[in-house]
Amino acid sequence: ELLKAQAPKTQAWKPLRVHVIGAGTMGADIAGWCVANGMEATLQDLSEEVIAKGIKAQGRVLKRRFKTKAALAAAKARLIADAAGDGVVHADVIIEAIVERLDVKQELFRALEGRIKPDALLATNTSSLEIEAIAEPLQDPGRLIGIHFFNPVAQMPLVEVVRGAASREDEVLKGATFVTAIGKFPLITKSVPGFLVNRVLAPYMMEAMARIEKGEEKERIDEAARAFGMPMGPIELADTVGLDVCAHVGKILGLSPEGSHLDRLVAAKKLGKKTGEGFYVWK
Ligand code: NAD
Repeated sequence: ELLKAQAPKTQAWKPLRVHVIGAGTMGADIAGWCVANGMEATLQDLSEEVIAKGIKAQGRVLKRRFKTKAALAAAKARLIADAAGDGVVHADVIIEAIVERLDVKQELFRALEGRIKPDALLATNTSSLEIEAIAEPLQDPGRLIGIHFFNPVAQMPLVEVVRGAASREDEVLKGATFVTAIGKFPLITKSVPGFLVNRVLAPYMMEAMARIEKGEEKERIDEAARAFGMPMGPIELADTVGLDVCAHVGKILGLSPEGSHLDRLVAAKKLGKKTGEGFYVWK
């Protein structure tokens, strides 16, 4: 509804080319998803090997989407390895998904600002840094917004479009237009710790973990959550998201006490499904 109401402002802007910086867990899947939805994506990283691995991993999503050999080949050709970052000058949307460090992100955006198209949308996928802090060194801090995808990108329909204190409304609307164009549901939120989803979800998951510390069985907690309609219980969800990510979000929101069961698992590198063991054993 908001997009329809604002249509005259955003209708002239049609995102077709996306440049993603950072080809790790999130960046490669974001680029792959954009290509699966008809766009061209250039994918940049410090490591060519990471880019190649990230592109290869998109085969499954693209195969599911494009049924003929010709369509699949055309889609694969639209996903372009770009270690030098040349794609940034032609991109309609630039999404940063590099390491979660303020100084590194600030430096990247500072270097980008002079190279991008005047109407290009500039976005960060940060989970925990303030959009306004990342934007601070920019000459035009009003053009940066957050576009916060969830993991796994191909399965999560919601994407948060984050309005920093300085973000211009037009850029926020362009963010929502882009998210809609790639078949996701945009949720516009303020730049507050945890944005909206993690702010709601983290207390629920941390409470479930606190129950375990009090002696409750994890299986009973997960079973109870499923019984009232959750697709998976909070403990299995934590193992799926990654316990390092959960611990980080818990700390940002002041919900995770030092030395908790969660902290002990993270210290032992038991990070959930991705390492084969977390609260549960997944091997
Ligand atoms: P990751 O460590 O898997 O990948 C980051 C990649 O960025 C690495 O391949 C690294 O080589 C590259 N990189 C680092 N500095 C770079 C630079 N200056 N230029 C180019 N490439 C650079 O990280 P991730 O989990 O994909 O997270 C990336 C961002 O997405 C973070 O801001 C994180 O907060 C956010 N995020 C993560 C998740 C998640 O579940 N992992 C979910 C939502 C948002």
